[in-house]
Amino acid sequence: MNTSSLPRIAVLATGGTIAGSAGDASKTAGYKAGVVGVDKLLDAVPALGSVAQIHAEQIASIDSKDMSAALWTTLAKRIDALLAQDDIDGVVVTHGTDTLEETAYLLHLVVKSTKPVVLTAAMRPSTALSADGPLNLLNAVTVAASKDAAGKGVLVAFNNQIHSARDVTKTSTYAVDAFRSPETGALGFVQDGRVEFQRTVVRPHTASSEFSASGQWPMVEIVASYADASRVTVDALVAAGVRGIVVAGTGNGSMHATLTQALADAVKQGVAVVRASRVGAGHVMRNGAANDDALGTVSAGTLNPYKARVLLMLALALGSQGRDLQRVFDMY
Ligand code: ASP
Repeated sequence: MNTSSLPRIAVLATGGTIAGSAGDASKTAGYKAGVVGVDKLLDAVPALGSVAQIHAEQIASIDSKDMSAALWTTLAKRIDALLAQDDIDGVVVTHGTDTLEETAYLLHLVVKSTKPVVLTAAMRPSTALSADGPLNLLNAVTVAASKDAAGKGVLVAFNNQIHSARDVTKTSTYAVDAFRSPETGALGFVQDGRVEFQRTVVRPHTASSEFSASGQWPMVEIVASYADASRVTVDALVAAGVRGIVVAGTGNGSMHATLTQALADAVKQGVAVVRASRVGAGHVMRNGAANDDALGTVSAGTLNPYKARVLLMLALALGSQGRDLQRVFDMY
C-alpha cells in the first residue's frame, strides 16, 4: 500500500481514561487517568497505519476534571496552527470524558478552520479487559480522515457514533455508550472504516463563528437551584468579582424565589445571568419559567449549564452584554 497518499492527521493527546492505567486488567474504576503517552496509545492500534499518516503530539497528561482555561488556549492555538499547514488534513484530540463536552464546544466555537477536528476518549482505562479506547481512537482518525467530516465543526467520535460538539453530553458514569446528544441525536456513525452522516449542523461554528482563542476569559461560574436554595453562593460570587453566572435551574430554567432575588440583585451590579436547566434534556424558553425581560436575564435554549458557561465566557470576552447576549445564545 502506498501510505504517502493517505490523509495526514495530527493526534493531540491530553490525557484522560483513554490514557489511563490500572495495576489489574479487571479494574475499570480504580485507575490513574492520563499516564500513558500518545506513542503507546497509537502503538495499540496498528490499523491506524492504513487509515492515515499520523503526526502525534502530547499536549498534556491530565485527568480532564482538571481542565483549565490556560490549557484550552494552548490546545485551540495549536489546532489552529496545525490546520493552517498544507500538510495536515485534520486533527484528533484524545481527552478525558469528564469535561470532553466543554472542550469540544469551546473548540467548536473558536477553531478557525473547516478541516475536521474530532475528539475521542474512553470509559475504560487502556489496561482494562475490553478497553474501548483503541477502537474509539481508530474511529476518530477515520472520521478526521473523511472528506465528509469537513465543515461540520468539531465532532466527537465515541462508541461508533459521531456527535456534534454543540449537542453531545456525557450521560453515564460507567457505560461505554456514555455520550448522547439528547435533543438532536447523533450526526451519524463510523464503523469498520465507513463514515456516514445522516444529519447536518445548522448553527454557526469554527470558521464562521465570531469567537477566537484569545485566552483572556472572564470569571463565569455556575450555581444550581434546588429546594431551599439560599443566596449565599451568588452573593459570594458577586463579592469575588464574577462577570457572569449560569444558573442550572430546575425544570425549564426556573429558580428558587430566594435565588431569583439574589440573581436580580447581581444583574443590577452588572453581572450577566444565563438561565439553563439541570434536567439534562429539553430547552429553556426565554420569558418562560422566569420573566427574562423583567429580570435582565438570558435563556440558554438547548445548551446545558456547562456549555452555556463556555459560550457566556466567550461572549463576555468579546464585549457582548444585555440583549446582545440573548442574540448570541439564540445563534450558537
Ligand atoms: N476522569 C477521567 C477524565 O475525564 C474520566 C475519563 O476519561 O473517562 O480524564
